[in-house]
Amino acid sequence: MKIEGKCHCGKISITAEVDPNTATACHCTDCQMFGGGPFRTVVVAKAESTQIDGDPKEYTKIAESGNPRIQAFCGECGTSLYATDLNKTVFNLRTGFLKQREELIPKKHIFGDSSAKWLKDLDQHQWFPKTPQQ
Ligand SMILES: [Zn+2]
Ligand SMILES: [Zn+2]
Repeated sequence: MKIEGKCHCGKISITAEVDPNTATACHCTDCQMFGGGPFRTVVVAKAESTQIDGDPKEYTKIAESGNPRIQAFCGECGTSLYATDLNKTVFNLRTGFLKQREELIPKKHIFGDSSAKWLKDLDQHQWFPKTPQQ
């Protein structure tokens, strides 16, 4: 499926062709730290189908496997864009900035060992359509 997304400030746009079945949620502690929440979600896009418009800022971390992993984000607004290998053969696009994010339902959850325990009973929390009325 074709996907498209823009960072919050609009300086960077990305389009790609993805298989929605590759949508994955990662609960590793690095994702929790980079994402500012309990997990991050990605969908896999091959480099040849990925078009990046703009100049993402890149930070290379060493993954648990020992491999370097590029983390890309907008240097202006901080929107998370993708992770990739040093040769940029495959892009793991963050689904949060994609227009089609609602259709990219994670089929698997990885690093379940470090998953926030409270995620299991989200339906028992208090929910509001927007913010609570004062
Ligand atoms: Zn931006
Ligand atoms: Zn992760």
